[in-house]
Amino acid sequence: MNNSKCKVSIICAPCGSGKSLAGMLYGAALYGAAMKDNKNKDKDNKNTASGHKLHFNYICNGIQLQSQLQSDFPTASVMKGRANFECNYMPSLTAEDCVYETCPPQKKEMCEYKKHKITALLNPVRILNYAYILNEVNYIGQFSADTPLWICDEADILDQTLQNMIELRFSINMIKAIGKGIPKFKTPNAQNGQGLKLWKQWAGEVREAVKVELYELLKQLSNIDKKQTFQLERLTELNNSIKRTKRMLERINIFLNHVSEDWIFEEQKNSYGRVKAYSWKPLWMPEVFAEQYLWRHAEKFVLMSATFPPRQIVAKTMGIKIEDIDYLEIKSDFPVKNRPVIIADNPVDMRFKQIENNIQENKEKLLKTIDRILTYHKGQRGIIHTHSWKINGWVMKNRGVFKKRTGHVLISHKPEKDDKEKMQTRDIITKKFIEKQVNGLVFVSPSSGRGLDLPDDLARFAIICKAPFLNLKDKQVSQRLYRSDIGKLWYKISMILESVQMMGRIVRNRTDWGKVYIIDLALIDSIAKDRKYWPEYILEAVEVE
Ligand code: SF4
Repeated sequence: MNNSKCKVSIICAPCGSGKSLAGMLYGAALYGAAMKDNKNKDKDNKNTASGHKLHFNYICNGIQLQSQLQSDFPTASVMKGRANFECNYMPSLTAEDCVYETCPPQKKEMCEYKKHKITALLNPVRILNYAYILNEVNYIGQFSADTPLWICDEADILDQTLQNMIELRFSINMIKAIGKGIPKFKTPNAQNGQGLKLWKQWAGEVREAVKVELYELLKQLSNIDKKQTFQLERLTELNNSIKRTKRMLERINIFLNHVSEDWIFEEQKNSYGRVKAYSWKPLWMPEVFAEQYLWRHAEKFVLMSATFPPRQIVAKTMGIKIEDIDYLEIKSDFPVKNRPVIIADNPVDMRFKQIENNIQENKEKLLKTIDRILTYHKGQRGIIHTHSWKINGWVMKNRGVFKKRTGHVLISHKPEKDDKEKMQTRDIITKKFIEKQVNGLVFVSPSSGRGLDLPDDLARFAIICKAPFLNLKDKQVSQRLYRSDIGKLWYKISMILESVQMMGRIVRNRTDWGKVYIIDLALIDSIAKDRKYWPEYILEAVEVE
């Protein structure tokens, strides 16, 4: 990392290899060097202000990880989003709903959020999460100017986070509220590109309507008597509406200035198949946006993850020049015999078409293979990655048979209509699985390839039923795949990286052990044919059942 002259250093290292510690040590070493340098300068010339910047941001994905890191590195300052702080002035609210204008000075002084933030800003080492830092540097203007180094953990999700920042989404409710029906030609390519022209025209009109809305909101804000406490709820509401409206205006401006035939237009539907929103996003991440929202905020970025695509793909998905990226892949030092990846005997064709047609023969083959693996692991706990709700259903419907034959108890979570609820349900079942100290418990899930830590006896086996290809119903995925060779490579590699993540849920330390089984022919095919894209530490562990 130290020798690299590139703006971005990627460290691709297996789970449990001590990435967080390495990142922190690197930041601390730079901090120490800068301190020493400054002291020398001050000694040489007492009138010269120290020129070095002495902070670094360690950024991870979510507050749970932040808390975990805080206990590992107690001298660092953890800063979470506003919603995690109670408002001292209005205890029923959080700092997210801050009514700063009306908050009495003594309450402001005691403000928990403010106190934490100042402490974090003064600390040379801050532990932040992606949502918080990107909001701060782009909309508030702090945690940026004085910070030459960002160390980003689980950074393979950064491209998606960036994309979410510029995706323009017109919800049906918003369209109704503005009172402007959508263009006659919904598809941008309709009538030889007339569709796109109409959308731009439409967005221009919407921009004017949003400006009027913003003007009205600001007027209402200025008319509120901020000394009247009964007005507080209204004030909070107004502040939040103003924030939302300003963001919308910013995204419409991005759209109007940058949209092209290359952008992806999509109708987003609810679970009943009704359109709930229209969205626009670029096919790949344009450098201009990535620079504006991310790269300009620090001199150096260290991106760490267990899985990272090669440089040419990072350049496309994260909007940066390939020559600005350095790449270091670290091998696993866990003994190979402790972490075999086993190609199941009698693999199954789990391609989408086969599943959709519900081919009985393949379903039975899959269940038979799972049965064989469970029999081998009698009394042990494990995880079954199904990757689709359909396969999840097959496995769970057969749980009575598995219990009778192998004694395993299978638990799973349900798909929910609402994304938030889905997360909660999965979280609850995951927690139950981890806390229930019962032998033979098996967690079955289509969406637990990441962020799950199952060391030692918590899971001794993992079964991957299906190659986790991205969903081709997602227009961005299909357009990338069908439009270019780099898109084809990206699609292939995304599946490999997701598989590596699934494999990494078990065997979390050097003395831990467990077996990963792969059943899908497509995954086996990829290991055989696309070897150069698979990490060496996985290939060296592959065995045939
Ligand atoms: S500044 Fe005042 S109103 Fe705002 S979050 Fe802090 S205590 Fe609450």
